[in-house]
Amino acid sequence: MPESADKTGLDGAEDRGVLMPEVAFSVDQSKSMADQAVPGHNRWHPDIPAAASVRPGSEFRVECREWTDAQLGNNDSANDVRDVDLLKAHMLSGPIEIQGAEPGDLLVVDILDLGPVQPPQERGDAPGQGWGYTGIFAKVNGGGFLTDHFPDAYKAIWDFHGQDATSRHIPGVRYTGITHPGLFGTAPSAQLLAEWNRREQALIDTDPNRVPPLALPPNPEGVLAGTMRGNDLDRVGREGARTVPARENGGNHDIKNFTRGSRVYYPVHVPGAKLSGGDLHFSQGDGEITFCGAIEMGGFIDFGVDLIKDGMNKYGVTTNPILIPGRVEPRYSEFLTFIGISVHESTGDNHYLDASIAYRRACLNAVNYLTKFGYSGEQAYLLLGSAPIEGRISGIVDIPNACCSLYLPTEIFDFEVKPSTVGPMSADRGSAARTS
Ligand code: ZN
Repeated sequence: MPESADKTGLDGAEDRGVLMPEVAFSVDQSKSMADQAVPGHNRWHPDIPAAASVRPGSEFRVECREWTDAQLGNNDSANDVRDVDLLKAHMLSGPIEIQGAEPGDLLVVDILDLGPVQPPQERGDAPGQGWGYTGIFAKVNGGGFLTDHFPDAYKAIWDFHGQDATSRHIPGVRYTGITHPGLFGTAPSAQLLAEWNRREQALIDTDPNRVPPLALPPNPEGVLAGTMRGNDLDRVGREGARTVPARENGGNHDIKNFTRGSRVYYPVHVPGAKLSGGDLHFSQGDGEITFCGAIEMGGFIDFGVDLIKDGMNKYGVTTNPILIPGRVEPRYSEFLTFIGISVHESTGDNHYLDASIAYRRACLNAVNYLTKFGYSGEQAYLLLGSAPIEGRISGIVDIPNACCSLYLPTEIFDFEVKPSTVGPMSADRGSAARTS
């Protein structure tokens, strides 16, 4: 792309009274990602061509589809969660080339702002157009952290009120979202990609028929790789890494504290860095426990980018990104805290310092508590996935029990949720959207 001398480093920005950063990647929310003027992609691969090019020091906007490419609707049925085609996910915007970036650099990414779909597209059928959703994915199609306890698909629709969210499927709560991108990252090198595929296949091979699977290997079905077609696209389908986990390039961190004002330092593995992402979340609790536990939406994210040449070596940041969380987040001051220990809930067996089991027990304790107020287990699970709850590894040395804790903000409820001598205020609290 031609050079320009304006602040954004993008073509045409010098002609505008720039109130909003120049759009480096635009999305028409009435069209699928494949049908956009410049399509995004849904696999990690070094050869996916850049969709735009910016200079270090520039600020720009990236528009995003919701992560499934809007397969889920604003309705009262969870059939779309049950039947979702996960081979299309995640729908990523990009890649954005950062001019002059070389392997070994650190890409400095400031999250300047983000939010749901903006005018004139702010109303419509796509998630992010005034609404979002949280899903419990079926055990046979995605699963989730508590999938053995909640194996069926459920959904909650959330309506956006500025920075607050409410749900007709979870009455009695209203909260301010902790808005962040679930997934951004740089492209892997061919060598790094091969290593991901090696190690993940080795894990899959330990129990290839497990439901849900241990990991997801490359799969050509449903692959989208920008403007690539034919043999090139087939190759990305065969080799490209699926986007579900976080890896050395960043990826699907689902760190709820990637809020506005965050600064992230991504390792650069390919020339131009090739920054891509999406999976914007209106809100999410730590752990995103239902798998689709955030309030999922399409929308926009504004970035500033810069480079630290040879930064990976200089700072020893060679495996995973580092970040400075943003300073813009909801302020809740009181938390009802649930504790879990590494004793298996079904077998009663003691596991040695297993934080995963301990956190699961903390979640189950919170779910059980909320059902005393009239919520179904599924409603409680959906709430814990999406509200700005804190999840912590509190003790990881006191043998044999890891101790994890879940901090539930009490101010999100419109009733008294703390224990008292009066007993829990149970009420008819409706139900989550279910399958038919
Ligand atoms: Zn997400």
